[in-house]
Amino acid sequence: MVDTVESMFARLGAYIAELEAENLELRERVSALSETRAMTVRVEIENDSELPSFGAYLAGTAPEGTAAIKINFTALFAAIADEGDEIASEDWKQIVSDTIVHELLHAFEDMLGKAFSEVRIEESIRRARLLDTSGDGHGGK
Ligand SMILES: [Zn+2]
Repeated sequence: MVDTVESMFARLGAYIAELEAENLELRERVSALSETRAMTVRVEIENDSELPSFGAYLAGTAPEGTAAIKINFTALFAAIADEGDEIASEDWKQIVSDTIVHELLHAFEDMLGKAFSEVRIEESIRRARLLDTSGDGHGGK
């Protein structure tokens, strides 16, 4: 669990660095964000079995202070269970983590005033996953 949370933050950091590098205007917005008081954003993750997807971020909530994320854990775990013995425990932790990170990244896009981009997020998660395997203390538990 600790590993998962750590790798989530590593991915968020990598994503912000990527956004920051994208253009100067964005860099200014990121630094403006960093200078804002404590830059406190709460994240509320709620299970929603009725959600028509695995996850959703409620647009507009992060800039107001609490990023509201809904995850359909029921559907997510059912999909993972369908994989049966084919799926290793590291893989399902990755899938759950990726689902949450995906929605967190939408929250960041919202805070930065960027249009939501599925392509950018998926690409960022894919690249960050490559970074993870390069061995930055991802061992243990
Ligand atoms: Zn998305």
